[in-house]
Amino acid sequence: MLVTGASRGIGRAVATAFAEGGDRVAIHHRGSAPLAEQLRDALPGEGHIVVQADVADPDAVRAMVDGAAERLGGLDVLVNNAGVYTPHPVLETSYEQWQQQWRRTLDTNLIGAANAIWCAARHMRERGGRIVNVSSRGAFRGEPGQVAYGASKAGLNSLTQSMAVALAPYGIAVAAVAPGYVETDMTNEHLKSERGADIRAQSPFNRVARADEIAAAVHWLASPAAEWASGTIIDLNGASYLRT
Ligand code: NAD
Repeated sequence: MLVTGASRGIGRAVATAFAEGGDRVAIHHRGSAPLAEQLRDALPGEGHIVVQADVADPDAVRAMVDGAAERLGGLDVLVNNAGVYTPHPVLETSYEQWQQQWRRTLDTNLIGAANAIWCAARHMRERGGRIVNVSSRGAFRGEPGQVAYGASKAGLNSLTQSMAVALAPYGIAVAAVAPGYVETDMTNEHLKSERGADIRAQSPFNRVARADEIAAAVHWLASPAAEWASGTIIDLNGASYLRT
């Protein structure tokens, strides 16, 4: 299996869950080789590998996915987890910065995932597989300060659903998870700030998620038992946002 953005946060927890379940894991990173190698050496089981790419670079994605499939002897699971979440409030962002934020966010969170799926589908078409995309509650609830992020995750949900239909005839199931706040490097600053208590209070459990709670759902979606969940988007937000 291959998980993008796996050197830390949710991706790291996903890599750990799959290794604990007996899978061989391709740990993808962009510029964190030492962290990725440390994780590779710490994971239970044998044969884990480290692969590198900027997921916003289509050629790099292709080389990364093909390289992982070759070194693992095939590819049965892809988890698109790498993503960026940077503020760009509409009235406080210059037009030039606005362009940059939209390009970078869509190139990474949406087109990067679409490209990885294009590549992975070619390795799965003969023997089936599972693709899980890490989306976000923000796709449904809105992201007023990170507008491109919300749009990228809404796009990722649509990509998930279209791919679920397109790839089902090949035994490939495609699904997504949509976490609310998860305690990771991406959110630590927000959680430690004055807003931290308010963020925790968004959930009636009065806490945010742990990365391993997200990883458990991703692991299940990638299991043989989850074929019938293809096309679904699982909310993992501690009842902090109920969509209808
Ligand atoms: P994180 O910042 O710890 O991890 C994101 C990873 O993506 C990092 O390892 C980063 O290097 C990698 N990445 C970013 N841009 C990349 C690029 N161009 N090429 C290659 N790798 C790149 O954050 P996280 O919280 O673990 O987030 C993982 C995923 O979960 C993201 O898609 C994020 O949007 C999603 N998510 C997170 C939360 C949360 O509260 N933490 C909530 C909902 C969804």
